[in-house]
Amino acid sequence: MVSIDNGSTAATANGHSAVSVDGVTHPAGPLNNGAPLENDPSRKRKMTVLPLEVGTRVNCRWRDGKYHPVKVIERRKLPDDEGLNDYEYYVHYTEFNRRLDEWTKLEQLDLNSVETDVDEKVEDKVTSLKMTRHQKRKIDETHVEGHEELDAASLREHEEFTKVKNIATIELGRYEIETWYFSPFPPEYNDCTKLFFCEFCLNFMKRKEQLQRHMRKCDLKHPPGDEIYRNGTLSMFEVDGKKNKVYGQNLCYLAKLFLDHKTLYYDVDLFLFYVLCECDDRGCHMVGYFSKEKHSEESYNLACILTLPPYQRKGYGKFLIAFSYELSKKEGKVGTPERPLSDLGLVSYRGYWTRILLDILKKHKGNISIKELSDMTAIKAEDILSTLQSLELIQYRKGQHVICADPKVLDRHLKAAGRGGLDVDVAKLIWTPYKEQS
Ligand SMILES: [Zn+2]
Repeated sequence: MVSIDNGSTAATANGHSAVSVDGVTHPAGPLNNGAPLENDPSRKRKMTVLPLEVGTRVNCRWRDGKYHPVKVIERRKLPDDEGLNDYEYYVHYTEFNRRLDEWTKLEQLDLNSVETDVDEKVEDKVTSLKMTRHQKRKIDETHVEGHEELDAASLREHEEFTKVKNIATIELGRYEIETWYFSPFPPEYNDCTKLFFCEFCLNFMKRKEQLQRHMRKCDLKHPPGDEIYRNGTLSMFEVDGKKNKVYGQNLCYLAKLFLDHKTLYYDVDLFLFYVLCECDDRGCHMVGYFSKEKHSEESYNLACILTLPPYQRKGYGKFLIAFSYELSKKEGKVGTPERPLSDLGLVSYRGYWTRILLDILKKHKGNISIKELSDMTAIKAEDILSTLQSLELIQYRKGQHVICADPKVLDRHLKAAGRGGLDVDVAKLIWTPYKEQS
């Protein structure tokens, strides 16, 4: 039996791909070449056999009470039961972001809507076409989800590795938080669905009692490292991954639960972590962070960014982005975030770039170039150009690109970009750029 998830796919630059079936590579046509099979009635198998196979497409009742199309990603037998049908299914809602993937019970599935791919024993040619179509659908789906910057091969590798969420909830400080994505915790945590984190050193434990014991002896009340910013109850700590290896790794495990495409760097030595905290008399409580390579060839000024769910929609994400550019200004460099950005990350960045650039254009008299904008903001020229282009503020006149800044249009875009969130008060940033100690 051949399934798309077992073939290895190499996507090439022109959008064609080669599909490997049973170790033989078959050239495949352009991605839209599979269309004729779309209406093939043999694709659907009307008799539903339980348990459902992985890969089955079916409608599933979601938390809104309505049925939505899903794909079965994984299944598992319910414990202590002999019945053949007592499985639960891990499903991906094809209309929704992968963070909503979840385990569902059979009764949530509408078995009349079951759609299984055709028997795989078809001739090679058809198989390769079918896979191409399948792949196209996959790419269509991922476009919705903001993974368009990954090529098909790495996307599949990623999905294969991360398909099922392991840890469902965590306890961190005052909060119990539902997780969004898979995170590769060490194997000894494979049997846990909930983890207990020390909110200061980020060590994690399997049981509440272990955490309580730990809290009695843990002497940290804030992230390790230097406090480089304080404004009211808000503090930012700079943590060197080389000096605080375990903290850096714990932070990565934690962050991966909420970031789909974060690459887990075990080599935290190469990174600085900027951890934002709300402080009170009990200590400094992490609300989010961003990481940054100590040396970036590609002028990245931010690798990963996360606001923890209980603190989202309060302007902290925008604060973290603004902070990363303030560091770049102090370094006298332009910066850009590492790609791919998460869906939420992209929205935040678009908003930030729009607000910063349009504020300047509104106040500025006379001509201004992209280069000048970049020098003033530390935003990379490509990001400025793409932002202004997406707002249709760039026109081609007399053989060159010019910025057209009609004040009314600027106001409209600024309004649409929303509020800027919390401001970074640069006067309160006490920081010198990182230098390697020899
Ligand atoms: Zn601790």
